[in-house]
Amino acid sequence: MLGENMAPLVGDSPDPVLVDGGALGRPPRILLIYTGGTIGMVEDAATGALAPFDFSHLLENVPKVGRLGYQLDFAEIAPPIDSSDMSPAHWRQIAQMVAAGYDAHDGFVILHGTDTMAYTASALSFMLPGLAKPVILTGSQLPIGEIREDGTNNLITALQIAAARDPRDGGPMVREVAISFGRFLWRGNRATKMSSTDFGAFRSFNYPPLAEMDLHIRFNEARLLRPEGASSAGEGEGSAAAAGQLAATDGGTAVSGLGTAASGLVPQLEMDNAIGWVSVFPGMTEEVLRSQLEVPSLKGAVLRTFGAGNAPTRPWFVNAVTQFVSSGRLLVNVTQCAGGGVEDKRYATGDALVRAGVVSGFDMTCEAALAKMMHLFGRGCSAEEAAVLMQRPLAGELTVPDAVAKF
Ligand code: ASP
Repeated sequence: MLGENMAPLVGDSPDPVLVDGGALGRPPRILLIYTGGTIGMVEDAATGALAPFDFSHLLENVPKVGRLGYQLDFAEIAPPIDSSDMSPAHWRQIAQMVAAGYDAHDGFVILHGTDTMAYTASALSFMLPGLAKPVILTGSQLPIGEIREDGTNNLITALQIAAARDPRDGGPMVREVAISFGRFLWRGNRATKMSSTDFGAFRSFNYPPLAEMDLHIRFNEARLLRPEGASSAGEGEGSAAAAGQLAATDGGTAVSGLGTAASGLVPQLEMDNAIGWVSVFPGMTEEVLRSQLEVPSLKGAVLRTFGAGNAPTRPWFVNAVTQFVSSGRLLVNVTQCAGGGVEDKRYATGDALVRAGVVSGFDMTCEAALAKMMHLFGRGCSAEEAAVLMQRPLAGELTVPDAVAKF
């Protein structure tokens, strides 16, 4: 069943923005970055298992790409990987490729495995503050060389989206990191992989699609980020942060050392992975919880809670959490539910976390919360500073609830 996020889009003019060279007066120039994933995999003759293959194989199988008439440049991670092996070092490599090609290209398409695509998209959205061009991730459920597959369509559509121009100002239609997959374009840091078999592998439960791709590609103009902080970013959605303005203050105290990127792309390549990821479950024991929190090197952790941000209230649980936070570490509450978010004062169980000093991650996906925490610590934030910024949209990744925004 379609949720409210899947309602018809507002952009109703068919293909108003697809580029065939007309809008730019020259062929669009796109940088295609290959990282691996099913889209480029071939079957190992001996084992029958799929393994990543090189770029030339991929392109040989999609001669149609040439018919787009774009100027394509290529870059790849060597060797290409199954995205289960993705790491912050790879994110840095990809962000560097985008940064190095930024001025020369109109857009970027990243071919990536679906398994961790939402993590990479989230990470890039924070690593590329000031981004004002499309960075479109795509991949496929079946390898592009198979007779029946979804990779060709996903690749061609992603390229068209990366080349699309906004008729209102002639600039790029998409000015953010997004995932194009199947029939939808999703904000990268709002998306999550929902199916290992469906050709529509991704969904975003807390933010509508940025575009719907059927017979036509129709953009949801009102929901696209606009880095200069214009209204098109949507009410309360991080347009200032998209311009890289991490001017985080809390009660007037400026968070130092974050800088701004209002004048253009200023890549932030450091990601600090000294963080944890704790998922509560019925029957969790104190030993299991403590073994995950009592890791001396941790600077913070994402706490994956039930429903609207609820966790066990037994004293050993609250004590372990309180000790973690009072030792100067950051704990951010994100729900295990695919949709909705943390309303931590709704139930006594959530309120206990607030009193223990746990910070609400509102409606962020777990992938976005994890990547954002790595980014903030990578930028040298203290736990206190990171706590403030975790609750501010930096790249459209969260919606601040009205009740909180009023303060
Ligand atoms: N295991 C693959 C990967 O994430 C799955 C895929 O691409 O869909 O690289």
